[in-house]
Amino acid sequence: MERLEKLQLEWVLVVMEFATTAWTYYVYVWLICIQTTQNRVESTILLSAFHPLFFMALWCFLKTLLTPRMAVPAEFKMDAKTWDYIELDTSLHDYTRSHLGIKTVASHRGQAKTLSYCYPCGNIKPDRCHHCSRCKACVLRMDHHCPWLNRCVGFHNHKFFILFLHYIFAYSVFLVITCTGVLPRIWRRDWVGKATDIKGVSQKTGVSFVPKERPLSENDTALTLAILTSSTAKEAKAAAAAIAVSAPSSSASPPPPMVTATATTATSAAGTKASLIAGTGLSAAFLQVSLVILIYILVIISLVPLLQMHAELMAGNVTTLEQFRPIGLATGGSGVDIFDMGSVAANHRQIMGSHLWLWPFPVFTSLGDGVHFPVVVVVIVVVVVVVVVVVVVVVVVVVVVVVVVVVAAGAGGVVLVVKATASVKHTFSKLFLMYNALFR
Ligand SMILES: [Zn+2]
Ligand SMILES: [Zn+2]
Repeated sequence: MERLEKLQLEWVLVVMEFATTAWTYYVYVWLICIQTTQNRVESTILLSAFHPLFFMALWCFLKTLLTPRMAVPAEFKMDAKTWDYIELDTSLHDYTRSHLGIKTVASHRGQAKTLSYCYPCGNIKPDRCHHCSRCKACVLRMDHHCPWLNRCVGFHNHKFFILFLHYIFAYSVFLVITCTGVLPRIWRRDWVGKATDIKGVSQKTGVSFVPKERPLSENDTALTLAILTSSTAKEAKAAAAAIAVSAPSSSASPPPPMVTATATTATSAAGTKASLIAGTGLSAAFLQVSLVILIYILVIISLVPLLQMHAELMAGNVTTLEQFRPIGLATGGSGVDIFDMGSVAANHRQIMGSHLWLWPFPVFTSLGDGVHFPVVVVVIVVVVVVVVVVVVVVVVVVVVVVVVVVVAAGAGGVVLVVKATASVKHTFSKLFLMYNALFR
């Protein structure tokens, strides 16, 4: 029972997010684009800008939420007894480390060259992997546990999470701007529009109660509400008469509305029930659109620092956890930037993938297998190896060409090679003279 309550509590935020999404969709599409926007071109533009943002944000949200966690590969699995034996023997550590391709050291143990083992999951932790006590599992390249999703953000959904942050930001900005633009129109429709309704109702029903020459007073609003919500002519007349009698009549305040009580029917008036909420004078639509604006302003305010933080982390190929807990390399050195690939573009590719055109879509394109990650040292070694290989290849090619020419052309070949060398030497000395002349 207690477990069930805890489970429900953890999912409350997620359920609230779904409810808010559905309600926002109703407010925007129904109340704003269909009911408020009278102009078909305007509503088409709003709807066709709203839907791509809405679906991309929702798609990324669902992908972040529902993408299953990647399991720690079988070769990292180890029963606790074997680990207890290995833990005592550092030579076995080195062997296991190189066998599994683990580059980092478990810094929290304060001991160099120590592997990290997860007892609940029964596996040696790969590089950048952490056990999440909330998800009760080891998460590959764990970034953080997100309470808003009740899920971990890790290797399996990091790209989707980053995209979700961007899309929900764009979606929120769009909502706030367009809703704020529409809000005065709803205000006018509710107040000025009701005055028009009153006139219309007067013509239809024969009830005349609002003089043209003065603006609507509170009393008029109450009267309108009473008459418009009444279902029979008798009720309408009674309501109008009661309010007319109770209305204050001083020289400062406008005179009470005239009620001629010549209504023949108020059924058509009842059909156009006022949407004014008693006591506030505001319509449900106005309040809902205002609430949408308020909620999404709060979303924007909380997203700005989050986006900034993740942009910085991605630029350096650092996870949220690593930012707070720098890691060490078994080969020496430590810091938050040990997985920095040397350029922002290269670091972005680690999460977003190699194909730029796939970056905006929540399809899995992150590089690597989630357990092995290149480090800067490897990059430098690769560059050095490439340079050495290129130099060796050039030297070998030159030697082979010289030998082939000498063998093929005999003594004449030697002369040819000497001549060619002299020609190259000559060209270089000419270039040298030109360089001198230019920069003297
Ligand atoms: Zn674990
Ligand atoms: Zn988690």
